[in-house]
Amino acid sequence: MQKTVLSKLSKDELIDFITSAGEKKFRAEQIFSWIWAKNAGNFDEMTDIKKEFRTFLKENCTILDSKIKTRQISKDGTIKYLIEFNDGNCAETVLMRFDNRSNLSMCVSSQIGCKMGCKFCATGKNGFKRNLMPHEIVSQILHAQIDTGLKITNVVFMGQGEPLDNFENVQKALELINKNLQISIRRITISTCGLVPKIIDLSKNNLLPTLAISLHAPRHELRKEIMPIENKYTVKELHDALKEYNNATKDRITIEYILIGNFNDTQECAKELIEYLKDIKCNINLIPYNPVEGDKFKKPEKNNILKFKYLLEAAGKKVTIRLERGADIDAACGQLAGKIKNLS
Ligand code: SAH
Ligand code: SF4
Repeated sequence: MQKTVLSKLSKDELIDFITSAGEKKFRAEQIFSWIWAKNAGNFDEMTDIKKEFRTFLKENCTILDSKIKTRQISKDGTIKYLIEFNDGNCAETVLMRFDNRSNLSMCVSSQIGCKMGCKFCATGKNGFKRNLMPHEIVSQILHAQIDTGLKITNVVFMGQGEPLDNFENVQKALELINKNLQISIRRITISTCGLVPKIIDLSKNNLLPTLAISLHAPRHELRKEIMPIENKYTVKELHDALKEYNNATKDRITIEYILIGNFNDTQECAKELIEYLKDIKCNINLIPYNPVEGDKFKKPEKNNILKFKYLLEAAGKKVTIRLERGADIDAACGQLAGKIKNLS
């Protein structure tokens, strides 16, 4: 008999399950709290549940249906996990600690692989395998919490996959992260390469996460060279969707811009970017290109990064340069490749 996966159940479903096993409602609430608030990795940790019922739980249930396959710890404290799901597929997830802040950010994957094929991205190179289910997305956070004993404070959908290409499951995952894990919706960021209709759908959502846009080029011809999605939804259409999202929330959109040496790091690009964003309420996050094996792209020169930043700032934009995290364990942006290379 297949075991019931408790982290798949909503609170009401868990109550139904536990009461139909002959226990009181408050037992279900205790178990819910052990799973979602107290990082229990197994039933023996649930010390306020009587032994017989724990035995029942062990025989009939599991908390998660995935496991940590490998764990790599970077010199800077970043931890990259390879999570193996119950069909054998794997995805990577990264826990980032920042020394000067109390934030603990989890970068989660939304798909095994990705269909979008961006030229600079390791995930995009490996093709697409399947969508992750809501509980599989959330399990990445639970695994990291159980493993470290720490409480995650921020979640970014910047791991493998395009979250808006798995919209329904990501929406359900947003609810689980917000309601069950009690992480404020503003501390959850969805990063997308620009699926315009889905951005519009998201702007009508009850829960409005922080939106991050992988823009990377301010002009159609340039963007087309590195991001196939530009052939489907142009930067112009994307601009209109961003305005819509701006209208739906008070929060700024994050504009992600990978600086690729001698490609989009020129002063001309900076000026075009300023023009493109002149009526968008946003923060700009400059990401120096992280080399991916076999790529023809170059890292930008330090000088060009700074010049680019100053130009944007002089135009009144808020700009940050993304710190490279976990580069020594290939956990930096765009370097997550998982193990799908080995699968058919
Ligand atoms: N599919 C989503 C989220 C995952 S990618 C998206 O594209 O937004 C997370 C971020 O990493 C995106 O901004 C992506 O463009 C960036 N990225 C991909 N490859 C990179 C590389 N080689 N160097 C730096 N950033 C990269
Ligand atoms: Fe997919 Fe994002 Fe990588 Fe593009 S950058 S291939 S959308 S994961």
